[in-house]
Amino acid sequence: MAVTTCVLCNTHLESHAHIFFECLFSRAIWTQLMNICGSPWNGLCWNAFIDWAYTHWRGNSPGIVANKLCLGVVVYHIWRERNCRIFEGSQKTSLVFARSINDTIRCRLSSFNLKKHPIIDLNWNVNSS
Ligand SMILES: [Zn+2]
Repeated sequence: MAVTTCVLCNTHLESHAHIFFECLFSRAIWTQLMNICGSPWNGLCWNAFIDWAYTHWRGNSPGIVANKLCLGVVVYHIWRERNCRIFEGSQKTSLVFARSINDTIRCRLSSFNLKKHPIIDLNWNVNSS
């Protein structure tokens, strides 16, 4: 496998650890979304973050469900953005990228049958019931 430069920042070598958690492009998204999740970004690497999330995001309360959803959506969108840049030659600005992630999370939360929760209602701008 050829070593390539990260297409998200164009400054570092690409690796899973870099793309998803170390890249400045990804870190900006994590910082923004983790604040919405109520847990300021801790700057952990992939394995440490998964361990942290496993410990702190236990259960199925509406806030925890939203946080778990956020994790999956962010990872998916970072990977998708990387592939769009490589295979389609298109790229989103960080603002459009962040908006796309927020829209996906809000849309998914709207489809869930969650009990009323202030994080979901206020931070994600979704009217839970
Ligand atoms: Zn990068």
